[in-house]
Amino acid sequence: MDPQPSNAAAAELELKGVGVSPGIISGPAFVLAPEDESVVVRDIRPADVPHELQRYEQALVATRQQIRDLQHRMTESLGKESAEIFEAHLLMLEDRAIYDEIVRMLQHELKNIEYVLHEVTNRYAQALHDLQDEYLSERAVDVRDIARRLLHNLAGRSSSALSELAEPCIIIAHDLSPTETAGLNKSKVLAFATDLGSPTSHTAIMARALGIPAVVGMHDVSLRVTAGDPVLVDGQHGLVFVRPVAERIERYERKRKAHAAIRLRLGELRDQAAMTRDGYNLPLAANIELPADADTAVLNGADGIGLFRTEFLFLNNVPSEDEQTEAYLQVARRVAPATTIIRTMDIGGDKFISHLKMPQQVNPFMGWRAIRFCLAQPEFFKMQLRAILRASTLKNVKIMYPMISNVKEVIEANRLLAEAKNELTARGEPYDENIEVGVMIEVPSAALTADLIAPHVRFFSIGTNDLVQYTLAVDRVNELVTDLYEPTHPAIIKLIKHTIDVSHDHGIWTGVCGEMAANPMLVPLLVGLGVDELSVNAPGVPLVKDVIRSLRYSQAEELGQAALRSGSADEVLHNCHTLLAQIAPEILELVE
Ligand code: PEP
Ligand code: MG
Repeated sequence: MDPQPSNAAAAELELKGVGVSPGIISGPAFVLAPEDESVVVRDIRPADVPHELQRYEQALVATRQQIRDLQHRMTESLGKESAEIFEAHLLMLEDRAIYDEIVRMLQHELKNIEYVLHEVTNRYAQALHDLQDEYLSERAVDVRDIARRLLHNLAGRSSSALSELAEPCIIIAHDLSPTETAGLNKSKVLAFATDLGSPTSHTAIMARALGIPAVVGMHDVSLRVTAGDPVLVDGQHGLVFVRPVAERIERYERKRKAHAAIRLRLGELRDQAAMTRDGYNLPLAANIELPADADTAVLNGADGIGLFRTEFLFLNNVPSEDEQTEAYLQVARRVAPATTIIRTMDIGGDKFISHLKMPQQVNPFMGWRAIRFCLAQPEFFKMQLRAILRASTLKNVKIMYPMISNVKEVIEANRLLAEAKNELTARGEPYDENIEVGVMIEVPSAALTADLIAPHVRFFSIGTNDLVQYTLAVDRVNELVTDLYEPTHPAIIKLIKHTIDVSHDHGIWTGVCGEMAANPMLVPLLVGLGVDELSVNAPGVPLVKDVIRSLRYSQAEELGQAALRSGSADEVLHNCHTLLAQIAPEILELVE
């Protein structure tokens, strides 16, 4: 009998996570190992020290070059100030104290350079972190970032190589940091799969916006896939197949072709209105993260931008007022005459930005986030308000405040907006004097006091991502409680209905821009509850439009009424499923 083939380990492996961006795709894996996994300890001989030092010097040169390239790209896409964070990284590479300590430890401990570098930089970062100085303790993050780049270069593979991928591939990572995301070469990244993350994490939101299939919350995918392994990703169902068997590839290929055909047909809806079969027109806008995404929104047939998450502009540095104005104008011009709703920065929560002076918080989602952070720094906030106002000259821009939890915050934000207007008037700069202001309704207290807030604004936009998290006490980025994250929970249905009714009583409108609006199954429910606008990730626009165009308003109303009477999230979801199966089975096929 033939011996057992030595490639028994090469059997197909099926791994499950949370599907956060749909699509079926296969390709070779590019594995970005967790930091500590890549550090192996080896003894060396005294005679090896010069060689190890030479390797270190080479890694320094390569890292310096990669950072310069990244800095250059960031300057081009987001402006000079955005790229300044990398100056600090470059300076750290020149740090004499770190270098001397590495040489000393190499000579005394006689271990390989990877281990020595890891030890020295870890100690250095820890010392910075332990200092009571906020600025210095934040530099610890930079030291770790630089150490990781150096380690990857020593291993002959760099995280910056993510931006220089020669061949299209599937990224397998423990997590993706903001720096890594900023450096991605999007045309080469076929899909992501990460150990950490959840549907509303930063990586997931970006993946959906880019239309890149993604699976997150996989726990240990980065340890179970080897570089170059053939991988098949099903981003809808959160499945990753490593070394898929021929039958699996064929089955998925048939599915992919069928989905592509449906999407092709959906593409034809681009210039059609999002109107129900009985003539009810529902504006359908897109959510964007960066100015360039406005293009995708328009190409997908969105009625303007319902949510511009401006905090993504602040990811690598603080853009100046002029740079912000340019970014906002770029979007306003691209979608004109349609509207752009610019949300003031929602920094904090999972969008922690180390270069802004933010303390580490035990519970960041409940802490110093969004409007709280902005109202505490009025000059910083007003710089953004002035930039938004300056971008409003086409009269197609609206302002929206995030994470409002009481009416005082709205009144204070409006007061600062009035000051920002006066400052521009004094400078002789034009802006839309009647610019409309709205608020996100994403904290239960805001929903329940919508009647107090309504007199101060012109619209509400329900952020279901946070509303679900805060109402049900379910951390939106914690994969351990994903099952409890139920947008059809009776509490959520009641809060949405209450918000919409109050807005109508006050003669203003309510949109939904949370991910609930992008779920084709839940669209008829939101329509039935009386929502006036939906805003969804750009690639999701055609799907949602098709659902609306397949629906009768009366069917939606019936569904909404039944949901209000229902006592269970599962029952509501079941009814939503039944209706979608009846009106748009093709769409159900895409999302199930
Ligand atoms: C929301 O909370 O639903 C929302 C749209 O905002 P974000 O996801 O940016 O918190
Ligand atoms: Mg939110």
